[in-house]
Amino acid sequence: MQNKLPFTIDPIKSAQKRLDYIGYYPLQAVNRVDSPKSDIECSLSFYYDEQKLCIINIDAKLTLEQTCRRCFKPFVTEVHVTNKFSPVKSDAQAETLPEHYEPVLMNEFGEVDILALLEDEIILSLPIAPVHDSKHCEVSEADMVFGEIPTENEKTNPFAILVSLKNKG
Ligand SMILES: [Zn+2]
Repeated sequence: MQNKLPFTIDPIKSAQKRLDYIGYYPLQAVNRVDSPKSDIECSLSFYYDEQKLCIINIDAKLTLEQTCRRCFKPFVTEVHVTNKFSPVKSDAQAETLPEHYEPVLMNEFGEVDILALLEDEIILSLPIAPVHDSKHCEVSEADMVFGEIPTENEKTNPFAILVSLKNKG
């Protein structure tokens, strides 16, 4: 039985109670990630570490559609993100965190927008140039090598123009 998770959570209260949340954020609520195809399945743990820092441990999965840069066909892929955050009230406080924690800003009510946090993590984890597995891609390795030749030719074009101008002069 999966629970729909609250969009914002008070991390301090949750850490004091050492709460774990397991559930999902519905597909319809995922607005900032392009072409989501599933709910965000998520588990969250709130606790204090040995330095008495409040920690939010996230583990989330989302299926989404991307466009292959090689064959320009869409494909469906699953993104899995895990990270540890520590809630802060200011940039100055963020500066003091150990490097293995990411800062996350609390709002004026002392809550963290968990859905926005997960969306940020998912967006950051996406490849800049997504491509199919080569066995699924409609452009073969041979085509790719062939495809690079025109690019090389383009690079030499300015010289060709220079040569032709020179010849005219
Ligand atoms: Zn492809």
